[in-house]
Amino acid sequence: MTCSMRSGDSNEGPVTMSAEAEQKMQFLFALRSRGVTDEAVLKAMERIDRGAFVRGVFAERAYEDMPLPIACGQTISQPSVVGLMTQALKISPRDKVLEVGTGSGYQAAILSQLARRVYTVDRHRRLAQSAQAIFTELGLSTIITMTADGSHGLPEQAPFDRILVTAAAEDPPGPLLAQLKIGGIMILPVGQSDTVQTLIRVTRTGETSYDYDELRQVRFVPLLEGLGQD
Ligand code: SAH
Repeated sequence: MTCSMRSGDSNEGPVTMSAEAEQKMQFLFALRSRGVTDEAVLKAMERIDRGAFVRGVFAERAYEDMPLPIACGQTISQPSVVGLMTQALKISPRDKVLEVGTGSGYQAAILSQLARRVYTVDRHRRLAQSAQAIFTELGLSTIITMTADGSHGLPEQAPFDRILVTAAAEDPPGPLLAQLKIGGIMILPVGQSDTVQTLIRVTRTGETSYDYDELRQVRFVPLLEGLGQD
């Protein structure tokens, strides 16, 4: 108890600062030790404060490498998984990226540091709206947030250089494959089980040809059809 009183005392500013700096260092160390080595991705994750996307009782765990509950029964992904997926996308600064599954907005914010424009969609209006409010607060003006069933993609904005799906489907949705540019990359979890899926990378190599690579085992919430209740 004494500790938390001390850190709340405004005369103890430098103590709070160094605790924050140490927390950030540990956060970045955990990312590196789990295989996030791309410097641009690490820099993006250093700049975007995960704490801004986690509210309520779990806020104090925002810098731990674990998934956390958010509204609508969904989860904000584990930071190292966010880092590994972002790294696997090999984003270039001129890329237009689609994210399916906005959730808290954290992943989209990271993408916005690397790409020209990010479209992010969630089937829950409430999540899309609260993520949008955070983007506005943080001045992340290159992110466009929408409420939609993302398994249909965004035909009016297609094609995309990169697509990231942060909810698990049985197979890569056809519309998303069709909306990927030739030479483009899509990262998504696929599998029939709710408890474990395989993260795959799809590279569109031609008009009708795609390469598939398996990256690792992951666990995501399911990609559901239609819009959510709220
Ligand atoms: N990327 C998020 C975590 C995603 S959790 C983050 O950084 O916090 C998965 C999200 O996918 C949930 O918010 C869920 O509502 C959304 N989702 C599931 N099925 C969907 C669909 N068909 N279209 C759009 N969003 C979907």
